[in-house]
Amino acid sequence: MICRVLITSVAVLALGGSSACSRGVSQNQSVALAAQLQGPPPTRSEILRGDYGRLRANNDLVYYHLDVRVDPDKKFISGKNTIRFRMLSDDNRVQIDLHPSLDVDRILLDGAPLQYTREESAVFIDFPRKLRKDSTYAINFQYSGTPLDIRARGGIGFRRDSTGHPFINTVCEGVGSSTWWPSKDQWHDEVDSMRISVSIPNGLTDVSNGAFVGKMDLGDGYTRWDWNVHYPINSYDVSMNIGDYVHFTDTYKDMTLDFYVLRDSLEKARAQFTQAKGMLAAYEHYFGEYPFKKDGYKLVEATNAGMEHQSAVTYGNGFKNGYGGRDWTGVGVSPKFDFIIIHESGHEWFGNAVSASDRSDMWIHEGWTTYLEVLYVEYTFGYDDALKYVNGYKTKVLNRQPIIPPGGLMRTPPQDMYFKGALMLNTLRNVVNDDRRWFALLHDLYQHFKYKNISTDDIVAFFNQRTGRNLTPVFNQYLRHTAIPTLELKFDSAAKTVSYRWKADEPGFAMPIRIGTKGAWQIVEPTTAKWKTMPARLTPETFDVATDLYFVNVVKQ
Ligand SMILES: [Zn+2]
Repeated sequence: MICRVLITSVAVLALGGSSACSRGVSQNQSVALAAQLQGPPPTRSEILRGDYGRLRANNDLVYYHLDVRVDPDKKFISGKNTIRFRMLSDDNRVQIDLHPSLDVDRILLDGAPLQYTREESAVFIDFPRKLRKDSTYAINFQYSGTPLDIRARGGIGFRRDSTGHPFINTVCEGVGSSTWWPSKDQWHDEVDSMRISVSIPNGLTDVSNGAFVGKMDLGDGYTRWDWNVHYPINSYDVSMNIGDYVHFTDTYKDMTLDFYVLRDSLEKARAQFTQAKGMLAAYEHYFGEYPFKKDGYKLVEATNAGMEHQSAVTYGNGFKNGYGGRDWTGVGVSPKFDFIIIHESGHEWFGNAVSASDRSDMWIHEGWTTYLEVLYVEYTFGYDDALKYVNGYKTKVLNRQPIIPPGGLMRTPPQDMYFKGALMLNTLRNVVNDDRRWFALLHDLYQHFKYKNISTDDIVAFFNQRTGRNLTPVFNQYLRHTAIPTLELKFDSAAKTVSYRWKADEPGFAMPIRIGTKGAWQIVEPTTAKWKTMPARLTPETFDVATDLYFVNVVKQ
């Protein structure tokens, strides 16, 4: 997702209300979480949405068939989700989620209705007999209603295009998939595959994730559009895009690229969307083949600015370069490409193929994808532009709170996860100090974790193993503390020496850095433990530090 959406989505789920924490998170855990938090104590909503407690952890999703009918005039939806899951432990209750604005019509197991209770977005489903570990079950969850109209914050946007046709898009990473369909609305668990069926008035087109299967006239003024997703998919990536779309294609290697835009946009889109091929070439160069080949690659015009909906990336950047026509990082590089095509499609590699298993580790999606923009710039326009571009992000870093908040809560990390995350990765490239090894590490990390849901610790362990260095304190300083490290320099003009050490919050923080004179850098290995001293003929004014290669503060005394 892009940053503007992220900022507006933060407050959406602070619906308030707390009650005895009897499910999933205990009272003690809740108090412990509150103590770790810099902000207010967690609400019941944040726990119900974010915690991966017993009633979620007792099962593993296998398959969804979401079959939904949309009435654009009444802004009404109805349908069912067939949810197939394998039990991981014996139990007789599971948690599925559906926003309170939507009604549960009935939930069936083998044709028999199940009992359930609702609390905010959680639906606790009870089974008359114990479900057995390793057995697979399928429930049919039927629902209907008028989804909450939460406008810019996400959910379903019921709009009209300039000619009056319905123009309806979903976007729900912040507010949750449960705002428009019954699902296990969390990040830990994904289905292995999925079918999406969307019934809409004749004449309109639905574009959802996956490969197009076909459409069927239902004989009642509606047509059903069927899509098959052949890969694991985050629930927030599942989408429908309904409009008076026109369809055109392009090809990249042996893959067809499918583009869907409103009629008025066709000419502009034909020119702008040629950038998709350069994007694919760049990311395939660094990481390997596009991860969702069987589902294809689609760009779909939408009312939101952009979203990484898997294999059906939504686009609302006005067919202009930069971000909304602006120079996004302010250093003259951004106007050379369409920020939304490059950023949102980058998520196919980091976010969709490699996914975080808890929202607190969202930098795995956003920090990495922001760094992918930098790699795209390097591949397409050269290293000098890439270095300018990534350093342009410094003006957006706030350093007000750590990038990683406490886990197990529906609380979106701060926007530093984008820009500081990318600047940290650029720093690590220079710590590795060997581009051949760096790019091999990136490639292998992606290949190792693709189609998996992982944590920050998985990434750090991979880096440590591949570099033979203990980089845990470096990751911790950038991700789990507020401040970036400061290099302290102390000059002794009489002795013609400079002393150096790191000032950092993380115990044992140590990182090599280039200092002295640009073009003739010396690599030193400061620590936080004690000053080290080296000869230096330079004065404090002429002594330089490679702050474009390492995201650090420098203090000279
Ligand atoms: Zn993003």
